[in-house]
Amino acid sequence: MILAMIGRWDLDGNGGAGVQHPSKADAQPAGRGPEHRVAALTLAALLFVGSLMGMSNLLVDGVLREGAPRWIYGTAMLLCMVAAVPLAVRKRAGRWQTFGLVLLGDLTYLVVVLCIEDPVRYATPLMLLFPAFVAAWFLGPWELGINMAVTTVVCLLALWPSYDSAAALGIQVVVNAGTLNGGALGVFVLRRRVQRLLDATQALSHLDPLTGLFNRRYLIEQAPRIWRQARRDGTRVAAMVLDIDHFKRLNDAHGHAAGDAVLCAVAQALAATVRPTDVLARTGGEELVVLGLVGDPDEARRLAERLRLAVSDTRTLDGHAVTASIGVALTRPVGNEHAPDALWRLVDRADAAMYEAKQQGRDRVAALSLPRARSPISLEREVWPGTTAGDTL
Ligand code: GH3
Ligand code: MG
Ligand code: MG
Repeated sequence: MILAMIGRWDLDGNGGAGVQHPSKADAQPAGRGPEHRVAALTLAALLFVGSLMGMSNLLVDGVLREGAPRWIYGTAMLLCMVAAVPLAVRKRAGRWQTFGLVLLGDLTYLVVVLCIEDPVRYATPLMLLFPAFVAAWFLGPWELGINMAVTTVVCLLALWPSYDSAAALGIQVVVNAGTLNGGALGVFVLRRRVQRLLDATQALSHLDPLTGLFNRRYLIEQAPRIWRQARRDGTRVAAMVLDIDHFKRLNDAHGHAAGDAVLCAVAQALAATVRPTDVLARTGGEELVVLGLVGDPDEARRLAERLRLAVSDTRTLDGHAVTASIGVALTRPVGNEHAPDALWRLVDRADAAMYEAKQQGRDRVAALSLPRARSPISLEREVWPGTTAGDTL
Protein backbone atom coordinates (compact mmCIF):
# COMPACT_ATOMS: atom_id res chain seq x y z
CA MET A 1 0.00 0.00 0.00
CA ILE A 2 2.84 2.36 0.87
CA LEU A 3 4.36 1.80 -2.53
CA ALA A 4 1.08 2.66 -4.12
CA MET A 5 1.02 5.85 -2.11
CA ILE A 6 4.50 7.00 -3.12
CA GLY A 7 2.92 8.98 -5.95
CA ARG A 8 1.69 11.63 -3.56
CA TRP A 9 0.30 14.87 -4.90
CA ASP A 10 1.33 18.29 -3.70
CA LEU A 11 -1.86 19.63 -2.24
CA ASP A 12 -0.39 23.10 -1.84
CA GLY A 13 1.24 23.43 -5.27
CA ASN A 14 0.50 26.71 -7.02
CA GLY A 15 1.90 26.05 -10.46
CA GLY A 16 3.51 29.46 -10.80
CA ALA A 17 6.97 30.16 -12.11
CA GLY A 18 9.82 31.98 -10.54
CA VAL A 19 13.11 33.08 -12.05
CA GLN A 20 16.05 31.65 -10.19
CA HIS A 21 14.57 29.46 -7.49
CA PRO A 22 12.60 26.53 -8.76
CA SER A 23 11.02 24.92 -5.75
CA LYS A 24 7.37 25.18 -4.76
CA ALA A 25 6.79 27.39 -7.75
CA ASP A 26 7.38 24.41 -10.02
CA ALA A 27 4.96 22.17 -8.24
CA GLN A 28 2.05 20.87 -10.24
CA PRO A 29 -1.39 22.15 -9.38
CA ALA A 30 -3.27 19.87 -7.01
CA GLY A 31 -4.75 16.76 -8.51
CA ARG A 32 -2.90 16.81 -11.84
CA GLY A 33 -0.21 14.66 -13.38
CA PRO A 34 0.24 10.94 -13.83
CA GLU A 35 1.20 10.23 -10.21
CA HIS A 36 -2.11 11.62 -8.96
CA ARG A 37 -3.86 9.39 -11.40
CA VAL A 38 -2.08 6.38 -9.98
CA ALA A 39 -2.88 7.46 -6.40
CA ALA A 40 -6.59 8.05 -7.14
CA LEU A 41 -6.90 4.75 -9.00
CA THR A 42 -5.12 2.92 -6.20
CA LEU A 43 -7.50 4.39 -3.62
CA ALA A 44 -10.46 3.44 -5.81
CA ALA A 45 -9.17 -0.12 -6.21
CA LEU A 46 -8.56 -0.49 -2.47
CA LEU A 47 -12.06 0.79 -1.66
CA PHE A 48 -13.61 -1.52 -4.22
CA VAL A 49 -11.66 -4.65 -3.31
CA GLY A 50 -12.05 -3.96 0.44
CA SER A 51 -15.80 -3.63 0.22
CA LEU A 52 -16.04 -6.65 -2.09
CA MET A 53 -14.19 -8.73 0.50
CA GLY A 54 -16.44 -7.28 3.21
CA MET A 55 -19.47 -8.34 1.17
CA SER A 56 -18.29 -11.94 1.37
CA ASN A 57 -19.16 -11.90 5.10
CA LEU A 58 -22.82 -11.74 4.04
CA LEU A 59 -22.42 -15.27 2.68
CA VAL A 60 -20.90 -16.75 5.83
CA ASP A 61 -23.23 -17.87 8.61
CA GLY A 62 -22.64 -16.64 12.13
CA VAL A 63 -20.43 -13.67 11.31
CA LEU A 64 -23.06 -10.94 11.07
CA ARG A 65 -25.84 -10.24 13.51
CA GLU A 66 -29.22 -11.16 12.07
CA GLY A 67 -31.89 -8.61 11.13
CA ALA A 68 -31.21 -4.90 10.58
CA PRO A 69 -27.41 -5.15 11.15
CA ARG A 70 -27.10 -7.35 8.04
CA TRP A 71 -28.78 -4.67 5.94
CA ILE A 72 -26.80 -1.84 7.49
CA TYR A 73 -23.59 -3.79 6.91
CA GLY A 74 -24.46 -4.54 3.28
CA THR A 75 -25.39 -0.88 2.66
CA ALA A 76 -22.10 0.33 4.18
CA MET A 77 -20.12 -2.00 1.88
CA LEU A 78 -22.16 -0.81 -1.08
CA LEU A 79 -21.47 2.83 -0.15
CA CYS A 80 -17.74 2.12 -0.14
CA MET A 81 -18.02 0.65 -3.61
CA VAL A 82 -19.96 3.71 -4.79
CA ALA A 83 -17.32 6.00 -3.25
CA ALA A 84 -14.73 4.28 -5.45
CA VAL A 85 -16.57 5.26 -8.66
CA PRO A 86 -15.88 9.04 -8.76
CA LEU A 87 -12.24 8.35 -7.92
CA ALA A 88 -11.93 5.86 -10.76
CA VAL A 89 -13.79 8.11 -13.21
CA ARG A 90 -12.14 11.45 -12.38
CA LYS A 91 -8.76 9.85 -11.72
CA ARG A 92 -7.93 12.53 -9.18
CA ALA A 93 -8.79 13.33 -5.60
CA GLY A 94 -8.52 16.64 -3.77
CA ARG A 95 -7.54 17.14 -0.16
CA TRP A 96 -11.07 17.31 1.23
CA GLN A 97 -12.27 14.37 -0.79
CA THR A 98 -9.39 12.30 0.57
CA PHE A 99 -10.07 13.43 4.13
CA GLY A 100 -13.74 12.51 3.62
CA LEU A 101 -12.66 9.04 2.44
CA VAL A 102 -10.46 8.60 5.50
CA LEU A 103 -13.34 9.45 7.84
CA LEU A 104 -15.63 7.21 5.78
CA GLY A 105 -13.13 4.39 6.38
CA ASP A 106 -13.25 4.99 10.14
CA LEU A 107 -17.05 5.14 10.10
CA THR A 108 -17.30 2.00 7.99
CA TYR A 109 -15.16 0.14 10.49
CA LEU A 110 -17.47 1.31 13.28
CA VAL A 111 -20.50 0.10 11.33
CA VAL A 112 -18.80 -3.25 10.76
CA VAL A 113 -18.07 -3.58 14.47
CA LEU A 114 -21.67 -2.81 15.42
CA CYS A 115 -23.06 -5.28 12.88
CA ILE A 116 -20.70 -8.16 13.48
CA GLU A 117 -21.10 -10.91 16.10
CA ASP A 118 -17.63 -10.97 17.60
CA PRO A 119 -15.67 -7.80 16.67
CA VAL A 120 -12.41 -8.89 18.28
CA ARG A 121 -12.52 -12.09 16.23
CA TYR A 122 -13.94 -10.88 12.91
CA ALA A 123 -13.15 -7.17 12.76
CA THR A 124 -9.82 -6.39 14.37
CA PRO A 125 -8.90 -2.66 14.75
CA LEU A 126 -6.07 -3.44 12.35
CA MET A 127 -8.64 -2.58 9.66
CA LEU A 128 -8.18 1.07 10.65
CA LEU A 129 -4.66 0.89 9.29
CA PHE A 130 -5.93 1.71 5.82
CA PRO A 131 -7.51 5.11 6.66
CA ALA A 132 -4.64 5.86 9.07
CA PHE A 133 -1.97 5.35 6.41
CA VAL A 134 -3.95 7.22 3.75
CA ALA A 135 -4.23 10.21 6.13
CA ALA A 136 -0.54 9.98 7.00
CA TRP A 137 0.64 9.87 3.40
CA PHE A 138 -1.77 12.13 1.59
CA LEU A 139 -2.93 14.67 4.15
CA GLY A 140 -1.52 17.44 6.33
CA PRO A 141 -0.75 17.43 10.07
CA TRP A 142 -4.19 18.75 11.05
CA GLU A 143 -6.10 16.07 9.22
CA LEU A 144 -3.70 13.43 10.53
CA GLY A 145 -4.18 14.72 14.10
CA ILE A 146 -7.96 14.62 13.76
CA ASN A 147 -7.79 11.11 12.35
CA MET A 148 -5.55 9.96 15.19
CA ALA A 149 -8.15 11.19 17.69
CA VAL A 150 -10.96 9.54 15.67
CA THR A 151 -8.95 6.29 15.52
CA THR A 152 -8.62 6.27 19.32
CA VAL A 153 -12.36 6.87 19.84
CA VAL A 154 -13.29 4.23 17.25
CA CYS A 155 -10.95 1.70 18.92
CA LEU A 156 -12.61 2.42 22.26
CA LEU A 157 -16.13 1.96 20.82
CA ALA A 158 -15.11 -1.17 18.91
CA LEU A 159 -13.45 -2.91 21.86
CA TRP A 160 -15.92 -1.79 24.54
CA PRO A 161 -18.37 -4.73 24.25
CA SER A 162 -15.56 -7.30 24.29
CA TYR A 163 -14.04 -6.43 27.67
CA ASP A 164 -15.68 -6.42 31.09
CA SER A 165 -12.90 -4.76 33.00
CA ALA A 166 -12.14 -1.06 32.43
CA ALA A 167 -8.43 -1.71 32.94
CA ALA A 168 -8.33 -4.47 30.31
CA LEU A 169 -10.31 -2.28 27.92
CA GLY A 170 -7.97 0.67 28.58
CA ILE A 171 -4.89 -1.42 27.91
CA GLN A 172 -6.34 -2.79 24.65
CA VAL A 173 -7.35 0.68 23.46
CA VAL A 174 -3.90 2.06 24.24
CA VAL A 175 -2.17 -0.88 22.52
CA ASN A 176 -4.37 -0.84 19.41
CA ALA A 177 -4.77 2.92 18.96
CA GLY A 178 -1.12 3.44 19.94
CA THR A 179 0.07 0.95 17.32
CA LEU A 180 -2.13 2.44 14.61
CA ASN A 181 -1.29 6.05 15.43
CA GLY A 182 2.42 5.28 15.92
CA GLY A 183 2.52 3.59 12.51
CA ALA A 184 0.68 6.54 10.95
CA LEU A 185 3.08 9.02 12.52
CA GLY A 186 6.02 7.03 11.20
CA VAL A 187 4.53 7.09 7.69
CA PHE A 188 3.89 10.83 8.01
CA VAL A 189 7.51 11.55 8.97
CA LEU A 190 8.76 9.25 6.21
CA ARG A 191 6.57 11.01 3.66
CA ARG A 192 7.83 14.45 4.75
CA ARG A 193 11.42 13.29 4.35
CA VAL A 194 10.77 11.73 0.96
CA GLN A 195 8.96 14.88 -0.17
CA ARG A 196 11.79 17.15 0.99
CA LEU A 197 14.28 14.96 -0.81
CA LEU A 198 12.18 15.00 -3.97
CA ASP A 199 11.78 18.80 -3.80
CA ALA A 200 15.52 19.27 -3.36
CA THR A 201 16.30 16.84 -6.19
CA GLN A 202 13.81 18.53 -8.48
CA ALA A 203 15.21 21.97 -7.67
CA LEU A 204 18.74 20.74 -8.35
CA SER A 205 17.69 19.14 -11.62
CA HIS A 206 16.54 22.58 -12.78
CA LEU A 207 19.67 24.49 -11.88
CA ASP A 208 23.02 25.02 -13.50
CA PRO A 209 25.58 24.09 -10.83
CA LEU A 210 28.11 26.81 -11.69
CA THR A 211 25.94 29.91 -11.95
CA GLY A 212 22.81 28.84 -10.06
CA LEU A 213 20.74 29.94 -13.06
CA PHE A 214 18.11 27.69 -14.53
CA ASN A 215 19.33 25.11 -16.99
CA ARG A 216 18.24 23.92 -20.41
CA ARG A 217 15.89 21.30 -18.95
CA TYR A 218 13.99 23.94 -16.97
CA LEU A 219 13.76 26.20 -20.00
CA ILE A 220 12.16 23.39 -22.01
CA GLU A 221 9.78 22.57 -19.18
CA GLN A 222 8.63 26.17 -19.02
CA ALA A 223 7.88 26.42 -22.75
CA PRO A 224 4.29 25.05 -22.61
CA ARG A 225 3.37 27.47 -19.81
CA ILE A 226 4.86 30.48 -21.64
CA TRP A 227 3.28 29.50 -24.96
CA ARG A 228 -0.10 29.03 -23.25
CA GLN A 229 0.14 32.41 -21.59
CA ALA A 230 1.15 34.16 -24.81
CA ARG A 231 -1.84 32.63 -26.61
CA ARG A 232 -4.17 33.63 -23.79
CA ASP A 233 -2.85 37.21 -23.54
CA GLY A 234 -2.28 37.72 -27.26
CA THR A 235 1.36 38.62 -26.60
CA ARG A 236 4.57 37.42 -28.26
CA VAL A 237 7.33 35.24 -26.95
CA ALA A 238 10.79 36.74 -27.15
CA ALA A 239 13.96 34.67 -26.98
CA MET A 240 17.27 36.39 -26.35
CA VAL A 241 20.47 34.43 -26.83
CA LEU A 242 23.48 35.99 -25.09
CA ASP A 243 27.01 34.90 -25.83
CA ILE A 244 29.98 36.38 -23.97
CA ASP A 245 32.47 37.95 -26.34
CA HIS A 246 36.00 36.53 -26.66
CA PHE A 247 35.50 34.31 -23.69
CA LYS A 248 38.11 31.86 -24.86
CA ARG A 249 40.68 34.64 -24.83
CA LEU A 250 39.71 35.47 -21.28
CA ASN A 251 40.11 31.84 -20.24
CA ASP A 252 43.44 31.59 -21.99
CA ALA A 253 44.75 34.79 -20.43
CA HIS A 254 43.49 34.38 -16.86
CA GLY A 255 42.65 30.72 -16.46
CA HIS A 256 39.44 28.74 -16.24
CA ALA A 257 38.73 29.73 -12.64
CA ALA A 258 38.73 33.40 -13.61
CA GLY A 259 36.44 32.53 -16.53
CA ASP A 260 34.08 30.78 -14.14
CA ALA A 261 34.06 33.82 -11.86
CA VAL A 262 33.14 36.03 -14.81
CA LEU A 263 30.35 33.64 -15.80
CA CYS A 264 28.95 33.84 -12.26
CA ALA A 265 29.20 37.63 -12.18
CA VAL A 266 27.45 37.91 -15.56
CA ALA A 267 24.76 35.50 -14.38
CA GLN A 268 24.19 37.61 -11.27
CA ALA A 269 23.99 40.83 -13.26
CA LEU A 270 21.50 39.31 -15.69
CA ALA A 271 19.38 37.78 -12.92
CA ALA A 272 19.09 41.23 -11.38
CA THR A 273 18.06 42.74 -14.72
CA VAL A 274 15.47 40.33 -16.17
CA ARG A 275 11.82 40.84 -15.27
CA PRO A 276 10.35 38.56 -12.60
CA THR A 277 8.35 36.60 -15.17
CA ASP A 278 11.27 36.03 -17.57
CA VAL A 279 13.12 32.74 -17.55
CA LEU A 280 16.90 33.14 -17.57
CA ALA A 281 18.82 29.94 -18.28
CA ARG A 282 22.38 28.90 -19.03
CA THR A 283 22.03 26.65 -22.05
CA GLY A 284 25.69 26.06 -22.86
CA GLY A 285 29.25 27.06 -21.96
CA GLU A 286 29.04 30.85 -22.12
CA GLU A 287 25.61 31.01 -23.73
CA LEU A 288 22.55 32.14 -21.89
CA VAL A 289 18.94 32.43 -22.95
CA VAL A 290 16.26 34.77 -21.70
CA LEU A 291 12.71 33.80 -22.54
CA GLY A 292 9.84 36.14 -21.85
CA LEU A 293 6.61 37.66 -23.07
CA VAL A 294 6.60 41.00 -24.84
CA GLY A 295 3.87 43.17 -26.28
CA ASP A 296 5.90 44.43 -29.23
CA PRO A 297 9.40 44.32 -30.77
CA ASP A 298 10.35 47.57 -29.02
CA GLU A 299 9.83 46.02 -25.63
CA ALA A 300 12.11 43.12 -26.61
CA ARG A 301 14.71 45.54 -27.92
CA ARG A 302 14.64 47.57 -24.70
CA LEU A 303 15.02 44.47 -22.56
CA ALA A 304 17.89 43.14 -24.71
CA GLU A 305 19.63 46.48 -24.48
CA ARG A 306 19.25 46.46 -20.69
CA LEU A 307 20.78 42.99 -20.60
CA ARG A 308 23.69 44.09 -22.77
CA LEU A 309 24.37 47.05 -20.47
CA ALA A 310 24.15 44.80 -17.40
CA VAL A 311 26.85 42.55 -18.87
CA SER A 312 29.06 45.45 -19.87
CA ASP A 313 28.93 46.71 -16.27
CA THR A 314 30.53 43.44 -15.19
CA ARG A 315 34.32 43.33 -14.70
CA THR A 316 36.88 40.56 -14.65
CA LEU A 317 38.90 40.14 -11.43
CA ASP A 318 41.60 42.44 -12.81
CA GLY A 319 39.08 45.05 -13.85
CA HIS A 320 38.67 44.31 -17.57
CA ALA A 321 35.29 44.92 -19.14
CA VAL A 322 33.14 41.96 -20.19
CA THR A 323 30.79 42.23 -23.11
CA ALA A 324 28.20 40.03 -24.75
CA SER A 325 26.48 39.82 -28.10
CA ILE A 326 22.75 39.33 -28.01
CA GLY A 327 20.41 37.91 -30.63
CA VAL A 328 16.68 38.47 -30.34
CA ALA A 329 13.82 36.66 -32.06
CA LEU A 330 10.09 36.89 -31.54
CA THR A 331 7.19 34.64 -32.27
CA ARG A 332 3.45 34.85 -31.82
CA PRO A 333 2.27 31.38 -30.69
CA VAL A 334 -0.58 30.01 -32.74
CA GLY A 335 -2.77 26.92 -32.74
CA ASN A 336 -1.57 23.78 -31.09
CA GLU A 337 2.12 23.91 -31.97
CA HIS A 338 4.36 21.79 -29.79
CA ALA A 339 5.83 24.38 -27.41
CA PRO A 340 9.30 22.78 -26.86
CA ASP A 341 9.78 22.42 -30.64
CA ALA A 342 8.60 25.99 -31.17
CA LEU A 343 10.97 27.11 -28.42
CA TRP A 344 14.02 25.62 -30.18
CA ARG A 345 12.97 27.07 -33.51
CA LEU A 346 12.77 30.46 -31.81
CA VAL A 347 16.11 30.00 -30.01
CA ASP A 348 17.73 28.93 -33.31
CA ARG A 349 16.59 32.20 -34.85
CA ALA A 350 17.82 34.21 -31.87
CA ASP A 351 21.10 32.30 -32.17
CA ALA A 352 21.38 33.27 -35.84
CA ALA A 353 20.73 36.90 -34.85
CA MET A 354 23.42 36.61 -32.16
CA TYR A 355 25.93 35.55 -34.82
CA GLU A 356 24.94 38.59 -36.87
CA ALA A 357 25.74 40.72 -33.81
CA LYS A 358 29.14 39.00 -33.55
CA GLN A 359 29.87 39.68 -37.19
CA GLN A 360 28.94 43.31 -36.83
CA GLY A 361 31.53 43.88 -34.11
CA ARG A 362 30.19 42.23 -30.89
CA ASP A 363 28.84 43.98 -27.75
CA ARG A 364 25.54 44.67 -29.48
CA VAL A 365 21.98 43.48 -30.00
CA ALA A 366 20.69 42.10 -33.28
CA ALA A 367 17.27 40.86 -34.17
CA LEU A 368 15.43 38.59 -36.56
CA SER A 369 11.78 39.23 -36.99
CA LEU A 370 8.90 36.79 -37.13
CA PRO A 371 8.36 34.50 -40.08
CA ARG A 372 4.60 34.54 -39.57
CA ALA A 373 2.44 31.84 -41.18
CA ARG A 374 5.41 30.29 -42.89
CA SER A 375 7.00 26.90 -42.67
CA PRO A 376 7.84 26.37 -38.99
CA ILE A 377 11.46 25.52 -39.71
CA SER A 378 11.92 28.36 -42.14
CA LEU A 379 14.47 30.97 -41.19
CA GLU A 380 13.09 33.43 -43.71
CA ARG A 381 13.14 36.85 -42.24
CA GLU A 382 10.76 39.70 -42.04
CA VAL A 383 11.95 42.98 -40.77
CA TRP A 384 11.03 44.83 -37.70
CA PRO A 385 9.83 48.35 -38.42
CA GLY A 386 12.78 50.54 -39.16
CA THR A 387 15.35 47.75 -39.24
CA THR A 388 16.61 45.24 -41.72
CA ALA A 389 16.88 41.60 -40.91
CA GLY A 390 19.93 41.08 -38.76
CA ASP A 391 20.40 44.80 -38.20
CA THR A 392 21.72 45.86 -34.89
CA LEU A 393 19.10 47.68 -32.93
P1 GH3 B 1 33.03 34.81 -29.47
O1 GH3 B 1 33.17 36.26 -29.14
O2 GH3 B 1 33.04 34.57 -30.93
O3 GH3 B 1 31.88 34.19 -28.80
O4 GH3 B 1 34.36 34.15 -28.92
P2 GH3 B 1 34.47 33.10 -27.76
O5 GH3 B 1 35.91 32.95 -27.45
O6 GH3 B 1 33.60 33.48 -26.62
O7 GH3 B 1 33.81 31.84 -28.43
P3 GH3 B 1 34.12 30.34 -28.41
O8 GH3 B 1 32.83 29.62 -28.60
O9 GH3 B 1 35.21 30.03 -29.39
O10 GH3 B 1 34.66 30.02 -26.95
C1 GH3 B 1 33.83 29.77 -25.89
C2 GH3 B 1 34.75 29.38 -24.76
O11 GH3 B 1 34.01 29.26 -23.55
C3 GH3 B 1 35.42 28.07 -24.96
C4 GH3 B 1 35.40 27.38 -23.62
O12 GH3 B 1 36.68 27.15 -23.16
C5 GH3 B 1 34.75 28.41 -22.72
N1 GH3 B 1 33.86 27.78 -21.76
C6 GH3 B 1 32.77 27.04 -21.99
N2 GH3 B 1 32.19 26.67 -20.83
C7 GH3 B 1 32.96 27.19 -19.84
C8 GH3 B 1 32.88 27.15 -18.42
O13 GH3 B 1 31.99 26.55 -17.80
N3 GH3 B 1 33.84 27.82 -17.72
C9 GH3 B 1 34.84 28.49 -18.35
N4 GH3 B 1 35.73 29.14 -17.62
N5 GH3 B 1 34.93 28.53 -19.68
C10 GH3 B 1 34.02 27.89 -20.42
MG1 MG C 1 29.76 30.49 -27.63
MG1 MG D 1 31.52 33.63 -26.86
